[in-house]
Amino acid sequence: MSVYLDHNASAPLHPEVLEAMLPFFKGTHGNASSLHTSGRFLRSALETARLQVAGLVNSTPQQVMFTSGGTEANNTVIKSYFMGGECQRILSGEMEHASVLQPLKQVQKQGCQVEYVSSTADGVIDLNNSERSIDGFKPNLISLQLANNETGVIQPIEAIRQQVKSNETRFHSDATQAVGKIKVDFKALDIDLMSLSAHKFQGPQSCGALIIKNEVLQTPLISGGYQESGRRAGTENVALIVGTGKAAEIAARNLLERQAYLLELRRYFEQQLVSSIPAVKIFGEASQRLPNTSYFAIPYYHGETLLMQLDKAGFALASGSACHSEVTHPSHVLSSMGVDPDLALNAVRISFGMENTQKHIDQLIGTLNDLINQLPPMMRQVAGS
Ligand code: PMP
Repeated sequence: MSVYLDHNASAPLHPEVLEAMLPFFKGTHGNASSLHTSGRFLRSALETARLQVAGLVNSTPQQVMFTSGGTEANNTVIKSYFMGGECQRILSGEMEHASVLQPLKQVQKQGCQVEYVSSTADGVIDLNNSERSIDGFKPNLISLQLANNETGVIQPIEAIRQQVKSNETRFHSDATQAVGKIKVDFKALDIDLMSLSAHKFQGPQSCGALIIKNEVLQTPLISGGYQESGRRAGTENVALIVGTGKAAEIAARNLLERQAYLLELRRYFEQQLVSSIPAVKIFGEASQRLPNTSYFAIPYYHGETLLMQLDKAGFALASGSACHSEVTHPSHVLSSMGVDPDLALNAVRISFGMENTQKHIDQLIGTLNDLINQLPPMMRQVAGS
């Protein structure tokens, strides 16, 4: 059995979530919009889940619109605003997830103006740059992530929100990586829209939500039905929504303890990593990060090669590069941070979960040392071991 260290890609389904979903796959049948007993039962399960998600992010249940995940939530914000004619200028960030960047490219092709805020070498959105853009570009919509999926760096959304002076500007944050890992308070952030995805916090895959403040979203991306208060058409997948609600309830239950455990695990990992491979570079190390995430590169050790070697040895991690038709590109996040492209190609991400232990880390560090020792002597010297 391999040691799973890729929770930012997808966290394992929580056993209680599976238990909560099973009756909706097995016995209960119907449509949550039907008026008969079975329909009303499903509707009530769905509304309980809405309350649970609202509880996790401190929104009202009415503000929760279920989606098929973070990707759909992000697409909805960008495309709906543009389609509704409400938006001619969007301000976003260079480090955003592809589910924000790709829709932006699409609306840009159709005439929308888009500006991208740069980041600092520490992986934080550049506040001087965002202030200049907000004042000069006067965006109708701002879309900036709450935490980065690669580095784990937590972004200063509250500070950027305060840079916005116009009441006409809508603020969206992709909180897909943050929700369930750190405290996320929609109301306190004082933003208009926020995306989340259930499988990032041990819920089912292909279910998530867009949190929407006071009907700011006028044009649904998916139309043709009155589900989700007319904001997202199509028969709801009640089983997945119930699972999302349960995962939210569990995530809210012991957030602080989990954070402390994961933070200690990461501290231990990084300490062991640096002491055995002194030349290692940890990206965003000086910034506030998600407690479970560490993103590093070993000089002269290509990220994907290392990843495959580790996989063979029984460890599941992620690399930071994107593979397009067999050509490997450095991560756009690291490019934005000004990381040398050669080093960026070596990037590897580890993202812990609650089932991981110090023993897993000891085993991983042992394997990393073995792999480094197999490098030719010249490279080994540069890798610093
Ligand atoms: N945003 C961020 C920051 C993400 O990390 C991800 C998932 N990798 C998404 C959006 C999309 O989420 P999903 O794949 O669950 O739709």
